[in-house]
Amino acid sequence: MKIISEPQELKAYLKEQNKTIGYVPTMGALHEGHIELIKNARKENELVVVSIFVNPTQFLKGEDLDKYPRRDEADKKICELAGVDVIFFPTKENIYFEDEVKIEAPEVRGYVLEGATRPGHFSGVLRIVMKLLNIVNPTRAYFGKKDAQQLNLIQLMVRHYYMDVEIVPINTVREADGLARSSRNIYLTSEQRKEALKISASLYAASKMISKKEFDVQTIKEEMLKILEPLEIGYVEIVNREFKPINDVEVGNTIILVEAVAGTTRLLDNIWL
Ligand code: AMP
Repeated sequence: MKIISEPQELKAYLKEQNKTIGYVPTMGALHEGHIELIKNARKENELVVVSIFVNPTQFLKGEDLDKYPRRDEADKKICELAGVDVIFFPTKENIYFEDEVKIEAPEVRGYVLEGATRPGHFSGVLRIVMKLLNIVNPTRAYFGKKDAQQLNLIQLMVRHYYMDVEIVPINTVREADGLARSSRNIYLTSEQRKEALKISASLYAASKMISKKEFDVQTIKEEMLKILEPLEIGYVEIVNREFKPINDVEVGNTIILVEAVAGTTRLLDNIWL
């Protein structure tokens, strides 16, 4: 397994290989969710590249940039075991420029849901993902459905900027009790973790209501809010796959999303119906 931190060096190395590339961008502290993305990349491509970079431009002031978990050595071992060919470890200094040209999140879809509670977050995400995709130039790039809005905005960016990469969405990997895997779960005390289970429980309850033919969004949201109490809620929203609000669930074209805070940890989860 190769470890490269210079963007130009990686670009040159990958070009020379002349192989199909599966790419998994991450912020490290790798868990089963990331491994699932890597496994899919391994199956479908000749070379697998993982990047590990805690991207400062997607953190707002006061967020957890400084305390975001960093596990470089453990991450290297996980990648090696998962059959990764190259890890890209850029630094803020070697990937960002002074007074640089910026890509912005779209004015509506980038500023609802997660974009409303974290204005500017998605501009930072798109900036780094655009750079990373241009450096790696992968055949396919793998993203988790857990970050549903991020996935949607990346798909839009690829379309709007005529980028030549296939974006592959991967289902959310969960703990045995339903909690969606996240690098931030390590912040949770056992008490907060118990509270956090209300998030997946609310989504399961919604899915059950829908299977019993309750399609009214308001009714479903009210039930979910009852289950989520007393967690601090960022949002509970039911949208179509284009992230537009809907009044009635349409199976095959709906995503239910929750953002809630357990202790001081913001957690995201969703289900696709
Ligand atoms: P992160 O390191 O949190 O930025 O995540 C890197 C990639 O892994 C993103 O595409 C995430 O959506 C994806 N990911 C994170 N958690 C999970 C999970 N539990 N299941 C599947 N994919 C995930």
